[in-house]
Amino acid sequence: MAGTAGPKRQDTRKYFENLDGAGKCIAVLTSGGDAQGMNAAVRAVVRMGIYVGAKVYFIHEGYQGMVDGGDNIIEATWESVSSMLQVGGTVIGSARCKEFRTHEGRLKAALNLVKHSITNLCVIGGDGSLTGANLFREEWSGLLNELVEQGLVSEEEVRSNSELHIVGMVGSIDNDFCGTDMTIADWVFIPEMPPEDDWEDVMCQKLSENRAERKRLNIIIVAEGAIDCHNKPITCDYIKDLVVRRLGFDTRVTILGHVQRGGTPSAFDRILASRMGVEAVLALLEASDSDNTPACVVSLVGNQAVRLPLMECVQMTQEVQKAMDEKKFEDAVRLRGRYFTQVSVYVDKLVIYVTTDFHPQSSFNVAVLNVGAPAAGMNGAVRSAVRVGITEGHKMFAVNDGFEGFYKGQIKEIKWGDVGGWTGQGGSLLGTKRTLPGAHLDKIAEQMRIYNINALLVIGGFEAYVGLLELSTARDKYNEFCVPMVMVPATVSNNIPGSDLSIGSDTALNAITDTCDRIKQSASGTKRRVFIIETMGGYCGYLATVGGLAAGADTVYIYEEPFDIRDLQANVEHLTQKMKTSIQRGLVLRNENCNENFNTDFIYQLYSEEGQGVFDCRKNILGHMQQGGAPSPFDRNFGTKVAAKAIQWVTKTLKESFKGGRVFTNSPDTACLLGMRRRAMVFQPVSQLRDETDFVHRIPKEQWWLKLRPLMKILAKYKTSYDVSDSGQLEHVTQIRPRETKTSADI
Ligand code: ADP
Repeated sequence: MAGTAGPKRQDTRKYFENLDGAGKCIAVLTSGGDAQGMNAAVRAVVRMGIYVGAKVYFIHEGYQGMVDGGDNIIEATWESVSSMLQVGGTVIGSARCKEFRTHEGRLKAALNLVKHSITNLCVIGGDGSLTGANLFREEWSGLLNELVEQGLVSEEEVRSNSELHIVGMVGSIDNDFCGTDMTIADWVFIPEMPPEDDWEDVMCQKLSENRAERKRLNIIIVAEGAIDCHNKPITCDYIKDLVVRRLGFDTRVTILGHVQRGGTPSAFDRILASRMGVEAVLALLEASDSDNTPACVVSLVGNQAVRLPLMECVQMTQEVQKAMDEKKFEDAVRLRGRYFTQVSVYVDKLVIYVTTDFHPQSSFNVAVLNVGAPAAGMNGAVRSAVRVGITEGHKMFAVNDGFEGFYKGQIKEIKWGDVGGWTGQGGSLLGTKRTLPGAHLDKIAEQMRIYNINALLVIGGFEAYVGLLELSTARDKYNEFCVPMVMVPATVSNNIPGSDLSIGSDTALNAITDTCDRIKQSASGTKRRVFIIETMGGYCGYLATVGGLAAGADTVYIYEEPFDIRDLQANVEHLTQKMKTSIQRGLVLRNENCNENFNTDFIYQLYSEEGQGVFDCRKNILGHMQQGGAPSPFDRNFGTKVAAKAIQWVTKTLKESFKGGRVFTNSPDTACLLGMRRRAMVFQPVSQLRDETDFVHRIPKEQWWLKLRPLMKILAKYKTSYDVSDSGQLEHVTQIRPRETKTSADI
């Protein structure tokens, strides 16, 4: 693999080479309802487990397989998880198991584990599965004693298996890291709690009262599977029709975050699950090296890995149940939504906004534009900005064709109805151009004067960022630019400083992984084949690296990690060795600008020549399909939420900078980029981000995802150094709420 050395600096990092899994047995099972990404998680646990020298076992069919033993518990090999990433559901099965709920069942399960010397268990499942795991762990020493008494295990076996370490794995805990706070929900429909018979009347009555009191915004949340007390489904569309019919013409219903599930797991699911699988193995190793680490659940908050004590998670589940039994179901949703969600739940909520026309006009004019190359999710972001802006009382203006349209005066008011249906559409409906404003400042200022634009929202990529820098720098000369300005990053390349993620990059990753899946499957039969695939991204290796992680690449060449002929040789030899085993497909990704001389043809020819007799090669340049057709569910949600948040910031900043009858602000913190940093959404002055930017290569100087490279290499069977100082820290369930910066917390 390309050299592992990063920039040379004093090394304060902690590496996991000292975490040794030799002599340990880890078992992995999937349990309960199946969820996206379970296979990716299993694959990561297996490969990471083998990597650290442990023996890894599959337990097929969840707890049932643990109780039944026999063929259900088999040792996993590196190759046994090959070609598993792209498969939906769970390959190792996840039966429900009544027996495990009984003491006898758990006794049998304990016996099966002891007979395999399995003292480390990784449970991938939901609330129920983790509750079972927790109980099993609490009973462990009692169960062993019983087994000794029954003469089924020896004293020696008890001694060597005395501690059972368990790690659970759940999906994103706080999927709403940048969105609606569930605690202000006015109505919540969840499957567990069907509403009373007359709920329609009660809800509409209350909405009418709210309207009379001039309450502008009502939020209704409908979880997937919600039903009334006659088992009739309650859907978003039903509620929408009901509300519009009963409340009349001045009511608007917006469905936010409508998300489908099913099918092959998305790139996001695979990456999340791969990261967590590795994290789970680290947690098990650390637990078995020290005596008093509590069993934990690994998860991700925003973009940050965390660990939570299993006990606390289980308690939280019980509290949710209790709240539900007591019909305090807003509490239940708050507890569950905020702190503890299953892998599958993070996209389930459908949020409806009901707004009425009774809002005071703010008399502020806000312009929205797209800048840079098109990215999926831009339209959803515009739609959200326009509608939230109108709700806040502003007049919204759309600028076509970015800064180019701006200076040419392609500006007009955009109304609520104009953005209907935009969320699902790819590309940029406003039109987007790469033109920078610098050479046209006079004309842009003039247009701002003509239309009396009091604030700007720029949705776009690197040019949007540079453009905003130019405008803010020009504030000295032009009063017109002394207004609140904010950008939200939207680009497939994900190369914007100040944000871990940008709108559109998830769709691009999905397009890449989807294509890699297809290409890999295309070559049928037993012929061994290696695919060389070129991805976009400019100099930014995000798409190649993270796409490679999601698609299971063997090697990924990027600009940020320089490589030479020795690396290439080592990579080819490594792949050739692997392809001599049962592995049939090889995948090599190459970022378009990773190296001028080692171009895609060169790499293709090198692998073709050296692979002779073992595999043959094909190459593919992915091109603009990566900009994506329809935006992925993640990008729709992300775009919608980030833009809403940006407009709320605009409203607040407009109020603060409105003095003496006009808007005026020239402080750096009113020309901001709204980005995701680890677990929080943060507004950062663009002027501050200047130092963090490599303007020549159009990338941030520090890129968080470079930390995923070792992980990708490990999963591709390379020996490497993996910095674990950033791995999940143990936190507590009640503290998991994102720590937002002051600016974002104020909103
Ligand atoms: P999920 O894990 O998706 O919430 P379930 O609630 O069906 O799904 O739980 C999956 C399995 O976990 C059950 O079939 C059972 O074997 C085990 N389990 C669930 N709750 C408990 C419990 N309280 N005690 C022991 N085992 C349990």
